[in-house]
Amino acid sequence: MFPNVLEVARKLIRERVQVGETVVDATMGNGNDTLFLAQLVQEEGKVIAFDIQPQAIEKTRERLEREGLANRVEMMLASHEEIDKLEISAAAIMFNLGYLPGGDKEITTQASSTIQAIQSGFRVLRPGGIMTVMIYWGHSAGETEKEAVEAFCHELSQLDYLVLKYQYINQQNQAPFLLAIERRGQ
Ligand code: SAM
Repeated sequence: MFPNVLEVARKLIRERVQVGETVVDATMGNGNDTLFLAQLVQEEGKVIAFDIQPQAIEKTRERLEREGLANRVEMMLASHEEIDKLEISAAAIMFNLGYLPGGDKEITTQASSTIQAIQSGFRVLRPGGIMTVMIYWGHSAGETEKEAVEAFCHELSQLDYLVLKYQYINQQNQAPFLLAIERRGQ
């Protein structure tokens, strides 16, 4: 069977990130992607994870501690537009848009701050690095956000970025899809 879209995002990241590099989880949530990234960069690497909800930080911390991986992750209770305040060169930045599964569905990523965060992420993404954006658009803010993010990506210069859209086109109910953006260069 074809892989699900999140699995594709992870595969593309795995192919580009080296052990020991720095990576960013821009939407920590329950920590699934943070955990994946922490395993990928191994002990020498670093993950910086953002969320605006303390609940997300708690859940993620619990998971990382259970796996013994907390020491390679820095958790920021802050909006992802702040990515460029970090003095890092990131090999990968993951966005998983929408609301916290099991949390308050009213607290969700929003079109304008998401686009600012993507731009902020570009300022720290190393050449050859990858940004993945999982788009969940089956909720009210999601459709506006999807349109804004896609329109923004359409305008990116192909000299600087390659943008891939990965979507199953015969699924019901606004199935999530992936935008993967590669920063060109070595
Ligand atoms: N990747 C997560 C996981 O593996 O469990 C799921 C992420 S969930 C779909 C989206 C998360 O984005 C929510 O936890 C939400 O609080 C967070 N979020 C919303 N607005 C944000 C912002 N401006 N900056 C950072 N995180 C934000």
